[in-house]
Amino acid sequence: MATLPERATHQRTRAFNQQLVLRAIYDRNEVSRAELARLTGLTRTSVSNLVGELLDDRLVEETGRGPSTGGKQPIMLRVRADGRHLIGLDLGESAFSGAIVDLRGNIVRRVSVPLEGRDGDDALQLVYSLIDSLVSGNGASPLLGIGIGAPGLIDSRTGDVRWAVNLAWERLPLGQLVEERFGVPVVVANDSQAAAVAELTFGSASGRPENLIVVRVGRGIGAGIILNGQLFHGDGAGAGEIGHTIYGPGRERCRCGRIGCLETVASMRAMVALAGARDPSVTDEQSLVASLARGDKTARSVVVHAGSMLGVAIASLIGTLNVDRVLLVGPAVALGDPWLGAVKTRARANALPLLADETRIEMGAGHDDVVLLGASGLLMTHELGLSLAR
Ligand SMILES: [Zn+2]
Repeated sequence: MATLPERATHQRTRAFNQQLVLRAIYDRNEVSRAELARLTGLTRTSVSNLVGELLDDRLVEETGRGPSTGGKQPIMLRVRADGRHLIGLDLGESAFSGAIVDLRGNIVRRVSVPLEGRDGDDALQLVYSLIDSLVSGNGASPLLGIGIGAPGLIDSRTGDVRWAVNLAWERLPLGQLVEERFGVPVVVANDSQAAAVAELTFGSASGRPENLIVVRVGRGIGAGIILNGQLFHGDGAGAGEIGHTIYGPGRERCRCGRIGCLETVASMRAMVALAGARDPSVTDEQSLVASLARGDKTARSVVVHAGSMLGVAIASLIGTLNVDRVLLVGPAVALGDPWLGAVKTRARANALPLLADETRIEMGAGHDDVVLLGASGLLMTHELGLSLAR
């Protein structure tokens, strides 16, 4: 193997050390130079030089003097939340939404446009115009890059959409196209995987979970799997693609062309269709939720059946991965306890009892900021070595 010229090696080490220092500041929130040297194992001179560069770069700021640990009071440092901005996008099934996000995951500004059935190149043009409108409104700090959460089979390592059926995108190098057009780094992730990253980084759980499964149920169904503190992609980037697995007999033809996929029995789309066929007042997700809340028996039986089928899929994930926390997110969370109860009951009945008893199945966020925040989180990890913790 060829060795790098000494100068290149030196630059690489310097970039690595700078990321190490930035991450230590970010994770501690506020920290002194002396403490940074202790945390990173670098000399105090190196830390001072690296901090000087981060200050010049406006990524870090001095916040005043902290408590003394014997000598004089040290000057404290922290990462500037507005030192960079990111654009996060959620290419949802009925609308594309985007937001300007700061380095602490605060949403500064947001824009949403209805999809109105657009797909193929029209949908791609909509992505461009959404980013254009966010870029032109960002007069503040430099743009770090763009994180995109999209439905379908996405290879987040390359930014390629392998297959997104509702957008009619197949083998679309979305990351590369957006990167070339806007001249900033871009990451693209599957929406369920992005939701899992958001939970990993801003989650309500104390500390960062080592292992976690986030199942997102909306018009489609997918899971994001975190193993050993990292998003697990799978060899073909399809880890967690449970929506197009068949778990039992079915009659409906799926968007993917086969009959009986989990999405045809357990997604919000399926529930609305099944309840609507028996009760004309159910026409969309809101009317299904309202009907359930009124105690309507049809709505309840449809929701319980859908929850139960999702429980079959979750039992199989529990048996395969033995992850002790499963979080349900997405629009279906609005269905509340009748749905959650059915999921839990069936998952417990179908999985090995000892493992099922140790697994918590809970509901998380019903809103979809998780997708654009998770995509932003991946970008920050990629570009700055930071994760959006705290
Ligand atoms: Zn399918």
